[in-house]
Order: sequence, then C-alpha cells, then structure tokens
Amino acid sequence: MDLAQYIRNIPDFPTRGIQFKDITTLLKNREAFREAIDRLAEALRTANPDLVVGIEARGFIIGAPVAYILGCGFVPVRKKGKLPAATLSKTYELEYGSATLEIHRDAIEAGQRVVVVDDLLATGGTTKAVCEMVEELGGNIVGIGFVIELESLRGRERLKQYPVVSLVRL
Ligand code: AMP
Repeated sequence: MDLAQYIRNIPDFPTRGIQFKDITTLLKNREAFREAIDRLAEALRTANPDLVVGIEARGFIIGAPVAYILGCGFVPVRKKGKLPAATLSKTYELEYGSATLEIHRDAIEAGQRVVVVDDLLATGGTTKAVCEMVEELGGNIVGIGFVIELESLRGRERLKQYPVVSLVRL
C-alpha cells in the first residue's frame, strides 16, 4: 500500500509558504491507518522499547497504538500548561514559530528504553527537544519513528545520534 496517496497537501497552512501535510485523510481510512500503525510498530520493535513517548497532538494518535502493539507504556509530551503534576519544560524553534513542551518529571525511570513518535519530521527541532528532555530524566533513546519525513528539511541530520525510521518520504 502506498501511504503517500492518503496524505493531503494543504498549501499556505498555517502560514504562507508552508506546505502542510494533512494526515486526517490517512487516519480516516481504515486500511491506511492500520497499515501506518502496523508498519511503524514493526520498524520500532527491534529497538525493544519500554516506553513510547508521543508528542501532542498528532504524536498521540500515532504513538498510543504503536505502544499498545509493542506492549509498552505511553508517555505524553504536551504543550505548556496541560500536564497536572511536576513537569520538565523546554522551549525550541519550529518550522513556523517557537513552542514550549512539557513532560512529567516522574514519567521516565533512569535507564528505561524509550522511542519517540510523532506524525512528521520537518526540521527535527521538536523531536530533538523531546529527546533532550527524555535524556535529562535518565531515559535512553533507542529509536524515533515518524509517518512522514520531509527530506529537504534535513531533520534526520539533526537527529543523527539516534536511529530514525519514517514510512513516507516527501
Ligand atoms: P520540526 O520540529 O520542524 O521537525 O516540526 C515537526 C512538528 O511540526 C511535528 O509535530 C509536525 O506535526 C509539525 N509540522 C512541521 N511542519 C509540518 C508540515 N509541513 N506539515 C504538517 N505538520 C508539520
């Protein structure tokens, strides 16, 4: 199955010049959704993770079923102000603007094997910030998975110390 066919391109969203890759068209198709989750889970299985960390919000939709398939726990990384207990936070640059992400300080135990999942790799800034937070909490990043990789933005280079898998390269 060619998953790329199920990804919709929206020009100039959310700002002029951005080619937004909309995965809602993939998610609503039962075969494409299942194929994307199954393929990502299988690509990350060899990393033998304890935990899947998903990045709000589309990283939750992809990361939670991957964690379920792999028999892992799921840890949410959320936008500032959403997590109720003590958090670690990090501010980073995006392809458009900047943002602050947070993780619960007790979400990860030292030495746990962690994979980070998001829908899309652009510049890699988001995932890099998340990996740094996981490492600060003592986690060991054993893999990173995306449905989509925008190759021209070279996010993979920014994440070169980690094993990165992606299903669709655009
Ligand atoms: P980056 O930190 O540059 O790798 O950006 C990745 C994050 O921003 C992911 O959470 C994506 O969902 C979102 N994102 C960045 N660029 C796009 C794009 N062109 N289309 C859809 N989502 C994007």
